[in-house]
Amino acid sequence: MPTRKRFVAGNWKMNTTLAEAKALGAAVAKGVPSDSPVAVAVCPPFPWLLPVGEAIKGSAVALGAQDVHSEKKGAFTGEVSPAMLIECGCKYVIIGHSERRHILGESDSAINQKLHTALDEGLHVILCMGETLAERDRSLQERVFQRQVYAACAGLTDEQFGRLIIAYEPVWAIGTGKVATPEQAQEAHAFVRGKLRQLYGEKIADALPIIYGGSVTPDNTAGLMNQPDVDGALVGGASLKADSFLAIVKAAS
Ligand code: PEP
Repeated sequence: MPTRKRFVAGNWKMNTTLAEAKALGAAVAKGVPSDSPVAVAVCPPFPWLLPVGEAIKGSAVALGAQDVHSEKKGAFTGEVSPAMLIECGCKYVIIGHSERRHILGESDSAINQKLHTALDEGLHVILCMGETLAERDRSLQERVFQRQVYAACAGLTDEQFGRLIIAYEPVWAIGTGKVATPEQAQEAHAFVRGKLRQLYGEKIADALPIIYGGSVTPDNTAGLMNQPDVDGALVGGASLKADSFLAIVKAAS
């Protein structure tokens, strides 16, 4: 039976003032024990990376960013490179979040380029994927998973797969209060793992953490985590309150 360490990350999106971000980071850092069986990360907005990094310094909580550019440097006004994130103390970066795919029009090939650059530069990547409600209503979700996984992961090395986490985030569950049932999550995660096995082999598929995101709360975490292919959670709204985020981390332990 493969052992994958559970992983819980908070995606703060475009929320928090500087003071709130520092206080939230400090409270999360204080609440996660140094021997936590769950790996934990917080992903604040870009301008708060350094101060939140200071607030969580020396704790078991790692720092992540919410996006990154696909080029290493150059004339890309407003963009941020992987090396900049690393210098700010980031271990993780979220790539392909549905808000970027659907609101900002990020394509599968752009996501693949970002993945390559981020992994080449040494980051760990949380790759988001998942179907819209319209796609689920037409039973197209597996086709969507297959396309997204295939496109995003094309050309990655075995070593790079070792720094990849997939977050299954059904778009209809994000920020809606409508969480996937544990069975729906398990079905999706098992399908994605099966695809990974088919495309990249047993070793990569068994080792790769697949976490769930979409209206995760302290109350629904344990049910989701009881599923064999659910390895953690990507948390949006509930990560903005230290007590609910810490309760999710505890429930995932
Ligand atoms: C997310 O945006 O990654 C997310 C999971 O949001 P929420 O938990 O608020 O649904």
